[in-house]
This record gives sequence, structure tokens and C-alpha cells, in this order.
Amino acid sequence: MSDKVKKIIVVEDEPSLVFTLQDTLESEGYEVHTVTDGAKALDKVKQTNPDLMILDLMLPGKSGYDICQEVRDQKYTFPIIMLTARDQEIDKVAGLNIGADDYMTKPFGVKELLARIKARLRRANAYSKAGPVEMLKLGDVKIDLKESRVTKPDGVEHELSTREVELIQYLVSKSNQPISRDDLLENVWRYEYSTNTRTVDVHISKLRAKIEIQPDEPRYLVTLHGVGYMLRLN
Ligand code: CA
Repeated sequence: MSDKVKKIIVVEDEPSLVFTLQDTLESEGYEVHTVTDGAKALDKVKQTNPDLMILDLMLPGKSGYDICQEVRDQKYTFPIIMLTARDQEIDKVAGLNIGADDYMTKPFGVKELLARIKARLRRANAYSKAGPVEMLKLGDVKIDLKESRVTKPDGVEHELSTREVELIQYLVSKSNQPISRDDLLENVWRYEYSTNTRTVDVHISKLRAKIEIQPDEPRYLVTLHGVGYMLRLN
């Protein structure tokens, strides 16, 4: 764990909640930046480069959905915890689908929010420790993650989708360790709408065709029966 003070952006327009969150988070040792106008959220992200965002759904200027989408479009990967009012609960699937990592329904207990913040930061920290990597070699197969391209020793090239690059980055961050399908669903797909463990298997199989010389007998991206997958790196 890094000792660096973690920065949290709170995007919320309800003054009493802003006050409570700022007070609580600062007393827990976080550096807190607040934004009350949705239209200013992205600028604040660019200025402060936060470690985590708490994002209200209903905001003046711009909605939490739009902000979340913009933040992810700009390739920021920090965790986002969305705050929704009770009657907006139905929208949680949409929220997770556009890249929020978690959500809480108002009114919520501050202790529970703190616990979730800690969990998200811990996970983000583990994820970023090993990477992101730009280049990876699996035997004679070269994977350029910056250019999203795989080159086989016979010169054949494959394009990688954004999801495949994300999947590889996650596998690398946990290389030589068993990874369950649920772990991949949670951390690579973030439980997006309509994904299930079958989605994971389909993507792994497509990825193998690109990065393995013999996809039917994978040497690197192996299946651990009853457990999940593992990326073997030496
Ligand atoms: Ca609001």
C-alpha cells in the first residue's frame, strides 16, 4: 500500500451532504475536492487526478451518468461510487454499465460508504501495482498493448479490442495466480448488464486465438478446472 494521501472528488449538490462527506473523509485522512455543478466535474478531475470519485446521479449542469461516461471516455480508471436517491434504484444497472464501480442508495450510512471506499481503493491499488504494461512477450508472440496489436512469429498480426487490452492488463496484474471467472467479471467487466461467466469464457477463447500459437493447447493463458484461469509468465 502506498503511503501517499488519497484524493477523493465528491460531486454532489446537496450542501449538507457535501459538508458531512468532506468532514468525514478529511478526518479519515483523505484529500477531498468538492464539485457542486455537474458541468465542472470533468475539469476538476483533470486538475486533481483523483484516486476515487463519489458521484451523485442528479446534479445541476450535467447528470452523474454523463459525467461517468465522459470520465471513462477520457480513459480515467479510478473507481467511481455513484449515489442515487431511493426511487432511482432501478437505474443502478445503467450506472454500472457505463463504468461506475459501485453505487449507494440515499440515505446511506457514512460508515458503510467509508468501508466501500477503502475496499475500492485497495483493489485499485493492487490492480495498478504491476502495470499498466505496454509490451508483453509470450514466447515468440509479441503483444503491444499501447497499439493494441499482437504479432505472431510468422508475421501474422491481430488487433486487440479495448476489452481485450483491459483483460490482458488485469491478467498480467495477477499473473501466475489463479483468477476466478467472478473475479474477472467484477474487475474487467464490472458486472455490466447481460454479462455472465459465459461471456468471460467466450472472450478468453477469442483472446487465446490471438495470443497463443496453439490455442487448443494454450501454454500461457491456461484453464484451471473448477477454478478459472491463469496467465503463466516466467
Ligand atoms: Ca443531487
